[in-house]
Amino acid sequence: MTDLNDQWFARAKDVIPGGVNSPVRAYGSVGGTPRFVQSASGPRITDAAGREYVDLVASWGPALLGHAHPEVVGAVQSAASRGLSFGAPTGAEVELADLVAQRVQVGDLKPIEKVRLVSTGTEATMTAIRLARGVTGRDLLIKFAGHYHGHSDGLLAAAGSGVATLALPGSAGVPAPIAAQTLVLPYNDLDAVREVFAVHGENIAAIIVEAASANMGVVPPLRGFNAALADIAHSHGALLIMDEVLTGFRVHPAGFWGLQASQGERYLPDILTYGKVIGGGMPLAALAGRAEIMDHLAPLGPVYQAGTLSGNPLSVAAGLATLRLATPEVYAAVDAAAAQLADALDAALTAEGVVHTVPRAGSLFGVAFLPEVPLDYATALTQQSYRYAPFFHAMLDAGVSLPPSVFEAWFLTAAHDEVALGRVLEALPVAAKAAAEA
Ligand code: PMP
Repeated sequence: MTDLNDQWFARAKDVIPGGVNSPVRAYGSVGGTPRFVQSASGPRITDAAGREYVDLVASWGPALLGHAHPEVVGAVQSAASRGLSFGAPTGAEVELADLVAQRVQVGDLKPIEKVRLVSTGTEATMTAIRLARGVTGRDLLIKFAGHYHGHSDGLLAAAGSGVATLALPGSAGVPAPIAAQTLVLPYNDLDAVREVFAVHGENIAAIIVEAASANMGVVPPLRGFNAALADIAHSHGALLIMDEVLTGFRVHPAGFWGLQASQGERYLPDILTYGKVIGGGMPLAALAGRAEIMDHLAPLGPVYQAGTLSGNPLSVAAGLATLRLATPEVYAAVDAAAAQLADALDAALTAEGVVHTVPRAGSLFGVAFLPEVPLDYATALTQQSYRYAPFFHAMLDAGVSLPPSVFEAWFLTAAHDEVALGRVLEALPVAAKAAAEA
């Protein structure tokens, strides 16, 4: 069958490497033709052939309120009418920085005084690392296997997301001396962290960690893990960079850090990174932290970072509108929808006798074809991942668009109403059967 999606994909492959502008979009691990999106509204996307799907990708996270929320679109339209980019500061950037600093606090814990806006999560983590190195005068960085922090050179070692989906060890084109500055450790393993600090402690600038891992499938941190990372880093004069690009403003008004702090896990990261929801679907990301750290950035300090489109007025308008609309009721709706779907997914796979687990971290969840929730990347990789392609395609045939990789989280929005959720619930038993027969 060739429809308009096939035609676009054939054409795309002639002019765009792999036919896509970001690798996991290519359906590499599930096979078939990616759906070329014509439009999206609320919980749904419509493909080039005019077919509608309930969308559980949500642009890989940003669409917390659902696609094309009228107030967010209105804010962007209104900003656009006043000019697309100025290369000069705007009041809206100040309002957004204020809002981020205000939201990310729980009781007396307040990790953010200053915010620097950039355009992508990759830039946010890349700059955070440069800042940590500039502040500490040290070079080494600890990251965890299976964690994805964007595609800057030093962060692709044993990375999750598309690097995991395509089963790559890292990336070609990263100079060995740069890769050697990143020490990769197993996730949820504090002994490994302590051992590395015992040997290299004086040279370690920072630990970077996904607030909750969601790029090797969802792998929640063990209770106390993030807090212990902060303790270990601080006792050696190193910083903790908490990557909330995916989790920030998605799982809780104050991010995954806020969710943990509100549940009694109290710790203070030194630099936090945001992306996705903060821009409400427009290119916007941020790094943030205490003034004593953030003020090392140029123009005040010697750590350089800049951007022609940093703090772009359309992106900031979308981000401000999104965060202002992201009330506790929105998070409650997303939590309830996630709980309902995660339970139904679990029940459908159980009914078909498929070995599986549905790991959860706040409203993030996914499927892993393993008997138990994995604690690290090595375990996540041992799953029966071949079951995902038939499962994915059965869902797609039934009008539900899932992330095209078992190593990605499923994303809900506040727009997933009963009708949208009903369609997913209806599709699950058939998909579970397809997974069982794989
Ligand atoms: N950090 C995390 C935790 C992410 O999930 C991602 C993207 N999925 C990034 C950083 C990179 O963000 P971007 O794709 O905007 O560069």
